Amino acid sequence: MLEVSGLSAGYGDLIAVRDFSFSVNQGEILAILGANGAGKSSTLMALMGLVQQKSGSIKIESTDISQLSPEERIGHGISIVPEGRRIFTDLSVFENLIVGGHTVSKSQLAQGVEKVFGYFERLKERSDQLAGSLSGGEQQMLAMARALISEPKLLLVDELSLGLMPKIVDECYAVLKQLNKKGTAIILVEQNTERALAVADYVCILEAGNLGFTGSVADAQKNSNILHSFLGES
Ligand code: ATP
Repeated sequence: MLEVSGLSAGYGDLIAVRDFSFSVNQGEILAILGANGAGKSSTLMALMGLVQQKSGSIKIESTDISQLSPEERIGHGISIVPEGRRIFTDLSVFENLIVGGHTVSKSQLAQGVEKVFGYFERLKERSDQLAGSLSGGEQQMLAMARALISEPKLLLVDELSLGLMPKIVDECYAVLKQLNKKGTAIILVEQNTERALAVADYVCILEAGNLGFTGSVADAQKNSNILHSFLGES
């Protein structure tokens, strides 16, 4: 599904992630972990075309999307739930979904809205409510719903659990699991290592922009030194 080879990306002269190679297959969940500033968000943003790629290749189903605009990448089946949600607080829930779905056809948009309301009943009930007046958890659900409108094959999720109550995090993760069961590939960036490792198949640990460890979650957990030395986990 996704094959990333030798990816370097950053801002001006600053290289946030260096020579990063990894792949994700259909129906797999990859967790990208690392300390603050390790380059996790920059990696996701580079996959979306929102941070400058300096070198390497990003292939979705064998097509190199490195040179494509973010909108064109959505057309190739990739979508992001960004850190901080970035919803339009002055627009209603429904309007946020419409704006989020501007890259898809009208019929796909109508279908997509119906589908995401199926995942998030709370949003359906609040369709006309201003997004700015939603609770933090509902705003996160809206950010997820917006990313799902285009029915991505690969979903990038940045800090899903940040600042949310465990019950709401459970609800959001339940939707991710449903999507994953249907074959959607997912890349998770999480401060909450435990949450991420509970659902992921594979893990990459970044250390100051460099890949420190890659392998299965089972391997990472078997060797407690790995999580301890990179993440300070016991
Ligand atoms: P966190 O967990 O704190 O979000 P992260 O692992 O996601 O960290 P990034 O946000 O990708 O890390 O940051 C990687 C590096 O890129 C850091 O040195 C950061 O200061 C730098 N950086 C991030 N965003 C920008 C930006 N808009 N302009 C310049 N430098 C940036």
